[in-house]
Amino acid sequence: QQAPPTVADTYYGFGHPNDTLAVDRRANATFVILARNSDLSGTIRSIREIEDRFNRKYRYPYVLLNEEEFTDDFKKRISVLTPSTVEFGLIPREHWFQPDWIDEDRATKSRNKMVADNIIYGGSVSYRNMCRFNSGFFFRHPLMEKYRWYWRIEPDVHFHCDIDFDPFVYMEDKNKVYAFTITMYEYEATIPTLWGHVRDFAKLHPEYVAENNAMGFMSENGGEKYNLCHFWSNFEVADMNFWRGPTYTAFFEYLDSKGGFYYERWGDAPVHSIAAALFASRDQIQFFDEIGYEHNPYTHCPKLGNNWQKGRCSCDPARSFDYDGYSCMSKWDRFMDL
Ligand code: GDP
Ligand code: MN
Repeated sequence: QQAPPTVADTYYGFGHPNDTLAVDRRANATFVILARNSDLSGTIRSIREIEDRFNRKYRYPYVLLNEEEFTDDFKKRISVLTPSTVEFGLIPREHWFQPDWIDEDRATKSRNKMVADNIIYGGSVSYRNMCRFNSGFFFRHPLMEKYRWYWRIEPDVHFHCDIDFDPFVYMEDKNKVYAFTITMYEYEATIPTLWGHVRDFAKLHPEYVAENNAMGFMSENGGEKYNLCHFWSNFEVADMNFWRGPTYTAFFEYLDSKGGFYYERWGDAPVHSIAAALFASRDQIQFFDEIGYEHNPYTHCPKLGNNWQKGRCSCDPARSFDYDGYSCMSKWDRFMDL
């Protein structure tokens, strides 16, 4: 009889003697990284950059999650990068895999059609598991439960500027809920029925819809049609109380019950974004211009004031994705100015 897999491993890092903690106040916050064992080198690069650009001074902990056990080599090579606490967690089966009540014939047919239509990740079940996990479950993992705030990081991303302020504390003090650096249009073919379900849910639960919400950013005609703008969720700094609360819980369960994570290919980005736009007030959504961020193939490079100089940024501000035709940034600026 094999022992049941453990849910967590904890490593307590140790600091360099010259490396004093430079802050007197921190939020109840953590980095969270979802990764496979095969993502090791990219995960190392991402942690190295966020440590050098930010966390060297702040020492926020890390939680790494995987639906398979991380290897000893993975844990050792990650833990050596930081004096912060690093915890490695196994994702419970029921948070990850396709539920039994999904009609597999229907799901297979839809995947095959998406492959034929050349839709990115169209044939992948694991990608769908990942999107559903990030939409509804990461903040319920036992290792995440003790934290309120998280900063999502992915393997192989880049942080291009010094971050000389604490985004968590900033958000806590300003009553923010969700922060982004890049916003763009979603592929409509991955979410053909999502907006209809969102509208049905909002009709069913008008009491959940926030006053002064950001719906006007996502729809040009009062919510009838979705313009596909969303926040790119591979970067997120957000309040897990928002995801854990009754409103988002009901929203996620409603969407999940429609099966669209498997019958279509709903991403956690539109699901999180639409929730933030609908159930938070627009002032609770934060754009962090200061945080120069790259996830292939797009980069946000700071543009406001002297953010670029101040951050000693390595990105080219003239090539920031903000000005790309595929970006929703100008729409956001216009929406927030009104
Ligand atoms: P993309 O950014 O949409 O192209 O998707 P990615 O391949 O970057 O995946 C998003 C995040 O989920 C990254 O942090 C990946 O490391 C992670 N991820 C994707 N698929 C899996 C998986 O099957 N298992 C685990 N453990 N992590 C995954
Ligand atoms: Mn990615």
